[in-house]
Amino acid sequence: MTRRCIYCGTEKDLSKSDIIPDALTSAKIINPNVCRVAHNNKFSDMFENEVIEKLALITNELDVKSSKGNHYASYLASVIVDGTEYSTKMSTETELFKQKIMRSIDGKSIIGPIDKIKNIKGASDENVTEIDINQLEIEKKIVLDLSVFFGKSMYRLIAKIAFEWYCLNNSVTDKLSEFNSIINFITTGEGKNPVSIVGNEKIYHFFNQMMDMGSHTLISYVDEDASVNILVSLFGIAIYNVRLSDYVIPQCINNILFLTINVDAKKSYFKYSTLEEMEKEIENGFYQMGEFNGLKIMCPQNFNDVTMTNKMMYYSCNFNKKELNCCNDMDDKLLALIRKQLDQVLNISALTVRGLKRFVKEHREAIDKGIVFNPFGTNKKAIFMFYLIFICGKTGKKVQSFEDLTSFVKNKFSGKQIAISDEICEEMKQEMEAVEEYARIISQGAVIIENMKFD
Ligand SMILES: [Zn+2]
Repeated sequence: MTRRCIYCGTEKDLSKSDIIPDALTSAKIINPNVCRVAHNNKFSDMFENEVIEKLALITNELDVKSSKGNHYASYLASVIVDGTEYSTKMSTETELFKQKIMRSIDGKSIIGPIDKIKNIKGASDENVTEIDINQLEIEKKIVLDLSVFFGKSMYRLIAKIAFEWYCLNNSVTDKLSEFNSIINFITTGEGKNPVSIVGNEKIYHFFNQMMDMGSHTLISYVDEDASVNILVSLFGIAIYNVRLSDYVIPQCINNILFLTINVDAKKSYFKYSTLEEMEKEIENGFYQMGEFNGLKIMCPQNFNDVTMTNKMMYYSCNFNKKELNCCNDMDDKLLALIRKQLDQVLNISALTVRGLKRFVKEHREAIDKGIVFNPFGTNKKAIFMFYLIFICGKTGKKVQSFEDLTSFVKNKFSGKQIAISDEICEEMKQEMEAVEEYARIISQGAVIIENMKFD
């Protein structure tokens, strides 16, 4: 059978489309039935790049980088040093004072490496002050404009993700007229917007419990009015509902679909035609271990099957649009909800090999010199990372692999992701500072991390 573009039906020059743009995810999913120019490449300029650019802070913090450029996205931040505010585009904190010269917002001061500053015309001993950035409190303020989550470009991107993913799972290899309305919206931005934002806070809690923070989740369901819908949770920050078609299209038989992609690139996935089919599989996934006071004790056949939890969650949720409480407008309540989700994602340190290696690489110079904690330091995430490096160095042979470190963190903080409070941060700092030669231990730990395997 000839494959054709799912947007326009051409059989010429088909290409592989990244269903979720490469710069927004650490694991690829691909739809191969999209024509190269009009419905793949052109989408970048039409709506994808705008969203990618505006979410740079999030992808950077979650260690997601584009494989094309192989670099982390830079974002706009303001940095307050000794009471003066500077505005800059930054990608890592350690690069801040190394190369760039930054101008203060009031235009009265500049800051940068001392040799560069002294070379500036008009610089003299009177107007140049040398400061030790390790002894000053540096406050970073980041502004993320939340309107990106309610913008037309975001809606088009979310519709594209849902449409291409659903077609992939239903082996759609041609343009189907049933999808005309959503195709029109994705390709032109006009017509009826099929995307709305889930406003029910309970649904967000539910996702938070089931999925790691920062992951993407896609779920399809058939609504009470028989329409086919996809839920798209973007980084766990905003959850969207996409109405794909008004009824189940006969050739699309798989309508119970689930996918989640973690920040560490691991995927969990299932696909069924009906709820009944899934129900049967759940039942078969358990066996009766015994009986206690007349209650059957059931046990999963395979403890390693992580999708079983997701299946049971799907089954218990009974998705319908009324319950989801969807809307399109940026009202205050929804804005507060998204801000809360965003704060959670940004304050959580997910433990990934990639993130650890990146941190060591960026802090190599300071580690070589011998780390001295800034007494006024407030960067909780950095303290957590140094602590992990310290643990690797301190335990010597015990923590050698990423798996060792993960189980250490799981034991200590009961979870792979932890929200670092001021108290936990202070405890970690004290534990390190109690060891006289902590700088040397950190340096040994850094070597262990550099040698950890990457999958
Ligand atoms: Zn096309």
